Amino acid sequence: MKFYICREKSEPRPFKVAIIGAGPAGLTAAGYLACRGYEVHVYDKMPEGGGMVAFAIPEVRIPIRTVREGVRDLEKLGVSFHFRTKVVYDSPKELGDEWAEHFVSLERLMSEFDALLIATGAWKPRKLKVPGVELEGVYDALSLLHSIKMARIGYYSWDRAPDFKGSRVVIIGAGYTAVDVAIELRFLGAEKVTMVYRRSLEHSYAKAEIRKLISEGVEFIEHATPARILGEEKVRGVEFAKTKIVEGNVVMTDEHFVIDADVVAYAIGQLPTSPIKEIVCASEKMLEETGIFFAGDVITPRNIGTAIREGRAVAERIEEWLLRKAPRRVFPVAITGRLIVGVLGGKC
Ligand SMILES: Cc1cc2nc3c(=O)[nH]c(=O)nc-3n(C[C@H](O)[C@H](O)[C@H](O)COP(=O)(O)OP(=O)(O)OC[C@H]3O[C@@H](n4cnc5c(N)ncnc54)[C@H](O)[C@@H]3O)c2cc1C
Repeated sequence: MKFYICREKSEPRPFKVAIIGAGPAGLTAAGYLACRGYEVHVYDKMPEGGGMVAFAIPEVRIPIRTVREGVRDLEKLGVSFHFRTKVVYDSPKELGDEWAEHFVSLERLMSEFDALLIATGAWKPRKLKVPGVELEGVYDALSLLHSIKMARIGYYSWDRAPDFKGSRVVIIGAGYTAVDVAIELRFLGAEKVTMVYRRSLEHSYAKAEIRKLISEGVEFIEHATPARILGEEKVRGVEFAKTKIVEGNVVMTDEHFVIDADVVAYAIGQLPTSPIKEIVCASEKMLEETGIFFAGDVITPRNIGTAIREGRAVAERIEEWLLRKAPRRVFPVAITGRLIVGVLGGKC
């Protein structure tokens, strides 16, 4: 997987850039900036690069080998990687944190580097809020896919993974994560897989992949949303309410039905996980004035192509910023002070 193709490396330039997050956005930006002669350091909490592509997307769809090749190309270009290193400001605990062995403060990076790119993706699964979600056998699909991928590429032992053989699986959602959990659980021996979506198949950006799954025997139910998960200690089914679309919004109807299940996986979206955005009220523009940039899913979760395009575009903006403004910046003391005042003043 090529994150950036450098035709000719420029002479070294006297600026250092820190990139937080080694997913497609951060890696593409790293490639561009290293190629232009800047000193680039990439920090990631995981043991190697690739982000969601390496640690969530199933091996059958994108093998880790191709991601590793792309990361090696960047190393050859001179990019320095600091893996198992989480960059913290006031970050809450997030998926994947158990892999971090070192913790570096954002403030330290602010003072040591001329510019900072935050490309930390969206690693927080949106929680399903219905009764019964805590029952045994109910999973958020992202964490489940992450554990399965870690087992497939040798970081976890398979003993940690639940046994899905012969199970009846209900998947809530119709995005990439829902598709991937259907693929993985079928591989792991699930007997029956049903995907349920609150809108129609046409609304899903993963409709091509879902049509393929349907042709392979996966059941797909449109226009239904979970009302509650049934069971005592362990899940035994899901009660759904049929939905209708009113002026573009999904509305629950009184018509309910139940699907029996031993496993439920919900894939209803992910939330951006930035070490800075959640706790400060600074706008992206204000941060950019001080040399802090954002790219990829951390802005809003989308796809690999967009992350790569944004990584490239933001790297060009960083270069422009370095050449025009970096020597005159009043950062980090001023920005830190302003942000802290904002937080303490209750504006954020
Ligand atoms: C299951 C699944 C399937 C998908 N399938 C597809 C698909 O088929 N096609 C498609 O186009 N897109 C797909 N996507 C979406 C795609 O993977 C993302 O849009 C893309 O990876 C976003 O890239 P990114 O660089 O912005 O973030 P990410 O890939 O999420 O990378 C962010 C990186 O930041 C690191 N990080 C986070 N916080 C910190 C911190 N504080 N300190 C240090 N490091 C940190 C993480 O460890 C991670 O490596 C899928 C996503 C998922 C979850």
